[in-house]
Amino acid sequence: MSEYMPPVKEMSFILNDVLGFSHDELDRETVDAVFDEAAKLASGVLAPLNKSGDIQGARLIDGEVKTADGFKEAYKAYCDGGWNAVPFDLEYGGQGLPWALAFPVQEMWQGANMAFGLCPLLNQGATEAILAHACDEQKKQYLPKLISGEWSGTMNITESQAGSDIGLIRTKADRQSDGSYKITGQKIFITYGDHDMSENIIHSVLARTPDAPDDVKGLSLFIVPKILEDGSRNAVKPIGLEHKLGIHASPTCTMDFDGATGYLLGEENSGLRYMFTMMNNARLCVGLQGVAIAERAYQHANTYANERVQGRAFDSAKRVVISKHADVKRMLLDMKSRIMAGRLMAYSAAMELDNGDQARVGFLTPIVKSWCSDMAVNVASTGIQVHGGMGFIEESGAAQYYRDARILPIYEGTNGIQAADFVFRKVAYDDGKMARLYIDEMKGLVDQRYLDALTTATDKALGLAEEKDLDALAWMSVPYLNAFAIVMGAALISRAVQKSPEFECDNGLSLKDIARFYRRNVLLQAII
Ligand SMILES: Cc1cc2nc3c(=O)[nH]c(=O)nc-3n(C[C@H](O)[C@H](O)[C@H](O)COP(=O)(O)OP(=O)(O)OC[C@H]3O[C@@H](n4cnc5c(N)ncnc54)[C@H](O)[C@@H]3O)c2cc1C
Repeated sequence: MSEYMPPVKEMSFILNDVLGFSHDELDRETVDAVFDEAAKLASGVLAPLNKSGDIQGARLIDGEVKTADGFKEAYKAYCDGGWNAVPFDLEYGGQGLPWALAFPVQEMWQGANMAFGLCPLLNQGATEAILAHACDEQKKQYLPKLISGEWSGTMNITESQAGSDIGLIRTKADRQSDGSYKITGQKIFITYGDHDMSENIIHSVLARTPDAPDDVKGLSLFIVPKILEDGSRNAVKPIGLEHKLGIHASPTCTMDFDGATGYLLGEENSGLRYMFTMMNNARLCVGLQGVAIAERAYQHANTYANERVQGRAFDSAKRVVISKHADVKRMLLDMKSRIMAGRLMAYSAAMELDNGDQARVGFLTPIVKSWCSDMAVNVASTGIQVHGGMGFIEESGAAQYYRDARILPIYEGTNGIQAADFVFRKVAYDDGKMARLYIDEMKGLVDQRYLDALTTATDKALGLAEEKDLDALAWMSVPYLNAFAIVMGAALISRAVQKSPEFECDNGLSLKDIARFYRRNVLLQAII
């Protein structure tokens, strides 16, 4: 069975050559050295635990979650290497590196072992919430250990009656005379809600104070540590662990808060706003997970296709490996070209995060989250197809990527919610300005008819918004978002070809072939 090798050459090419990453203290050699080091940990330590973690899974034993064999040691190696600290402030022990560099590095963890990578991903969300909204004292208390990884963080939003509709959250927060709160309620589906890899777990919890409005405006955000400052155990515990389609090694916990001590972040009733500050980044990272797992599925399928002998090619009298068949080549190119488009989109969003351009990040977020996560499911499915019958058999490993990828269009806001965010907030509310700007910037990179199609679709969306035909607007939201993503992917690939027409990917596939395939086959799907 093949293992995962992070495509560091492509990552460096996209970041440095195509997107023009530049940084006073990070020259290309340094960036490449960081990627090479991360790749060693990803391929040497995390990737080999992907299948065993899937088979063994996380377990709830005597009220505590035990992660799969090897996870604890792998997490220690990850923290000892300073990897958890990559994008965070120097002031609290972070490495202060830009998101543009953190994204490829994070892609490696997710490609190597998505179930493992979810722990740092959720930690990142909790850490950002504290960085952005906590008082100085709280920052000093929590950030150094969250950033080093000695402690991990979670996001506790979902309740059984409150999924996409977080206005229905019922978890209560009662003020105490010492300024703390007692948190009472039950949260479901909490990723790494409990585990044995870090010394402490810092839960960020959305809850409602007694006199708060009963909608989203009445939500406040609290820090609820598993272990309190005096070393005692807080009244929060996992009471169930979900049996899932995939990511078996990532514990998905039902968390019981039984009057647990919590500390308010920022101000009461501002929880939703605080959640939104971390949401863009977390959503982009789910898109990045999509790119990562799709890459792994591709590598697996490509290796198999170069080993399996079956049938004769058009131009050969001898039996050949299946990668020589035109239709298998089609599948592999389809996979790789979509991954290339997704990676370009995700990394360019990271560059916008570093630029602090909130409007552009906001526009790209639903596109990256939704298109890259759907892409991952489709690519992983094609990966199974490349394997033929063996793809359907767990032993081949191809099925795991498909099962693992299937969560991506669901969590961090379903893709339906992303499409609604895109069409209602990012296009209609903005009167189509940002959409038109992006279409304009793609001129000369993509055949004009695709840009005209996007302009027509944008006008249509604005017309439906004006007429208040909201069902029709919602119905076009998914194909419209996908068309935008596909055309944007074509423009970025075309830019890559302009920069370096002779570039070859890590496995020797030529960029020109990828670009040609995407233009002739994938782009066709953007005529809406
Ligand atoms: C493995 C896993 C890990 C998770 N990790 C976490 C975590 O760490 N922390 C956390 O808080 N949560 C977590 N979640 C919860 C996840 O974010 C929610 O499942 C997700 O937001 C969807 O909510 P729901 O499941 O209640 O679905 P629902 O909200 O019931 O949605 C069902 C369907 O209806 C659609 N729908 C709902 N409302 C609308 C609307 N207004 N407009 C259009 N369509 C709509 C949805 O798109 C979906 O197709 C996790 C879930 C899973 C399965």
